[in-house]
Amino acid sequence: LARERHGDWVTEIADRVVREAERRGGPLVVASGISPSGPIHLGNLREVLVPHFVADELRRRGLECRHVLSWDDYDRLRKVPAGVDPAFAEHIGRALTDVPDPCGEHASWSDHFKGPFRAALDALGVELTEISQTEQYTSGAYREQILLAMRNRQKIDDVLGRYRTLPKKKAAADEPDRLDTDAQTLETDAPDEDAYYPFKPYCQTCRRDTTTVTAWDDASTALEYTCSYGHAGSLRLNEDVAGKLVWKVDWPMRWAYEGVTFESGGVDHSSPGSSFTVGGELVREVFGGLPPVYVGYSFVGAAGRAKMSGSVGGAPTPGDALDILEAPMLRWVYVRRRPNQAITVAFDAEVGRLYDEWDALAARVAGGQATEVSALARDRSVATAGRTLPLTPRPLPFRTLASVADLVAGDDVQMLRIVKDLTPGDPVTDLDRIQPRLGLARAWVAGYLPAEDRTQVRDEPDRKRMASLSEPEREALTLLLERLELDWSLEGLSGLVYGVPKIQRGLPLDTPPTPELKTAQREFFALLYELLVGRDTGPRLPTLLLSLGPARIRTLLTP
Ligand SMILES: [Zn+2]
Repeated sequence: LARERHGDWVTEIADRVVREAERRGGPLVVASGISPSGPIHLGNLREVLVPHFVADELRRRGLECRHVLSWDDYDRLRKVPAGVDPAFAEHIGRALTDVPDPCGEHASWSDHFKGPFRAALDALGVELTEISQTEQYTSGAYREQILLAMRNRQKIDDVLGRYRTLPKKKAAADEPDRLDTDAQTLETDAPDEDAYYPFKPYCQTCRRDTTTVTAWDDASTALEYTCSYGHAGSLRLNEDVAGKLVWKVDWPMRWAYEGVTFESGGVDHSSPGSSFTVGGELVREVFGGLPPVYVGYSFVGAAGRAKMSGSVGGAPTPGDALDILEAPMLRWVYVRRRPNQAITVAFDAEVGRLYDEWDALAARVAGGQATEVSALARDRSVATAGRTLPLTPRPLPFRTLASVADLVAGDDVQMLRIVKDLTPGDPVTDLDRIQPRLGLARAWVAGYLPAEDRTQVRDEPDRKRMASLSEPEREALTLLLERLELDWSLEGLSGLVYGVPKIQRGLPLDTPPTPELKTAQREFFALLYELLVGRDTGPRLPTLLLSLGPARIRTLLTP
C-alpha cells in the first residue's frame, strides 16, 4: 500500500486496529465521547479527530469502519460556565438534557452546546454516528449491563479499590467525567460507608443526582435511595433506568456494548490507575469484553486570544478556528503532529505563518519534493475517503490578503482592483477565485488584528510634515512619483521603493545593499509610512502602495 510510511502515526494506529479486529473477529469501531456541558473547545476536537483520522485511513483501505460519538449528555451539570446566568446553579446535579437551554432557543442545555460543534465537524468532513447517552440510558438499552454491574458490585469495588487513592467515600461519591478534569469532588453524606453501588439514580422528586443508594435487592432489582435535598424514593432497575453507571464503569461498559476497537483520550486518562487502566480490568471481568487499542492525546493550546476584546470569553471552539482557517488547514494542524505532542492553534499574527507553511507544503507536494509523511498529512487534510474539502483555487498569501482587507475593509470593487494588480501574470478577475481565503482573512482582520496594528490611511496629506521636508526627502518623493506606474505590480513597486535611494546616490539598481544604503532605505520607508498612514510601520510597502492606487499616492505624497 505504501512504500515509506514509517513515522506516519495514522498508518501505525490503523495497522494496530486492523490486527486487533482480526484477532477478535469483530468489526472496526472507533469511538469518541464528549460531555456537552459547556462550549466544546479545540481540545475536545482532538477527542474526535484522532479517531477520525484512523477511521478515515481504514475507509481509504476499503474497510468498513464505524465512528461513534457518544454524547455524554446524561452526565450531571457540574458548574455554570462563565457568561451564563448564575441562577442556573439551581440545575447543578441534573442531567444535561434535563437543564434548560441558557439562551432559550434549544430544547436543552446539551443541545445548545452540541449544535456549533456538530456544524464544525460537518465543515471538517468528519463522518460519524452520534449516540445520545440520555437516549441510551432512558430507553433501557443498557438495562442488562446495569444489572450486570449491580450484581458484580463487589468485584467492581475490589478492582476500583486496587487503584483507589482517595478515601472510598469521596472517590465513590463522584467520579469525574472524561473531559471535566477540573471538576470539584462532590461530598455526599453516605450513611453506610461500606456499601458500594456503581449506579447512581437521578432523584425522582428534584431530578438531581445528589442521591445515595440505601438499599438494593438483586432478585427484585428494587433500589432505594435518599437525596441530599431531603427526598427519598425507590425504583426497579429492570423497569425504569433513571440514573447512570458511574464514569469509570460506564466507559468500559460501552466498549463492550459498542465493540470499540480504538479510542483515544486525554493524557490524564492514560496514566497508571487512570480510567483507562481501571476500565481495562472491568471490561474483561464484568462485561465480558476487551479494551480498545488506545492512545492518549496531549493538549491543544490557542495563541493570541487573550488580547482580544471582552466579547471573546473562554477557550476557543472549532467554529472560532474555522472563522479564520480553511477547513483542510484545521485538519492539518491536528494530523501533522502525533497525538502525544501538544499543538497550538494560532489566532494572532502567527496565523499568517501557518498559511505560509501550508502553501509551501502544497508547492512541495506539487513539485514532488515533499516527504512521504508530510504529503500524507496533506492528503488526509484536503480530503476524506468520502469527500473533498473546499480549497482556495488561487491561494494568495494570507498576510497580503489580510493587509489589503485591513486597508479596504469590505469594498469588493477596490479588493478586485488590488487583487488583479497583485496577479499581473494571470490576473484574478473574480473574487470567488480567492475564496474562502479572502473571507477568512477579512474575519481575522475584523476579529483578531489588534486596534494598534490596524492601518489608517490618511484622508488628507500631512501638510505640516510636507512643509518641513528636507531637500533629499523631497527629491526621493519626486523620484518615486515619476516612476510610480512604470511597473505597477508588487515586484515593480518593490524594486522601486528599494531603488529610489540608489538612484538618489547615482548607484546602479543592482547595487548590493551596503550598511549605509540599508539605512537610507529604512529612512525612506519610514518617511513613506509617516506620510501615507501616519506612523512609522505598516503593511509591506509594495502591498500598501498597490492597495492605495496611483491617484491616492500622488495626493498624499506630492510635495
Ligand atoms: Zn431530590
